[in-house]
Amino acid sequence: MRCPFCGSEKDKVVDSRSSKDGSAVRRRRECLRCSERFTTYEYIENVSLTIIKNDQRREPFDRQKLMQGISTACKKRPISMKKIESIVDKIENQLEKIGKSEIPSSEIGKMVMAELYEVDEVAYVRFASVYRKFKDVSDFISEVKEIELKGEAPLRDKK
Ligand SMILES: [Zn+2]
Repeated sequence: MRCPFCGSEKDKVVDSRSSKDGSAVRRRRECLRCSERFTTYEYIENVSLTIIKNDQRREPFDRQKLMQGISTACKKRPISMKKIESIVDKIENQLEKIGKSEIPSSEIGKMVMAELYEVDEVAYVRFASVYRKFKDVSDFISEVKEIELKGEAPLRDKK
């Protein structure tokens, strides 16, 4: 496993445990070069789920991508990696329960939004804006206004 800090591929596992529901093995690793520690997760590959994108293209569900999307929305917000991981876990569980082999990306977007809504308003609006691709601009604006009314800092960072 390549160290995210220095790029070395030599590490040792310092801790290994199963997640609560047994669906994953969490390994705490220590880089043998720089001694930084990082965490890896081992999952059974879920080959059955295909995402239907907005333009109807299909692609396999990718936990990493989902995690990245949520992390981006949570950038500079007081949300821990652990919290983000737990959101991803929750969504994966929901997807499993639904049990479909294909699911529109917009459905997953809604799940993420529902989770972020509970966690952080700014992250929620960021994610919502990306996911809806401003298809419904009035929605997005009313969302932002609502947050401003509640006294949160308005959304300023645009990419
Ligand atoms: Zn390292």
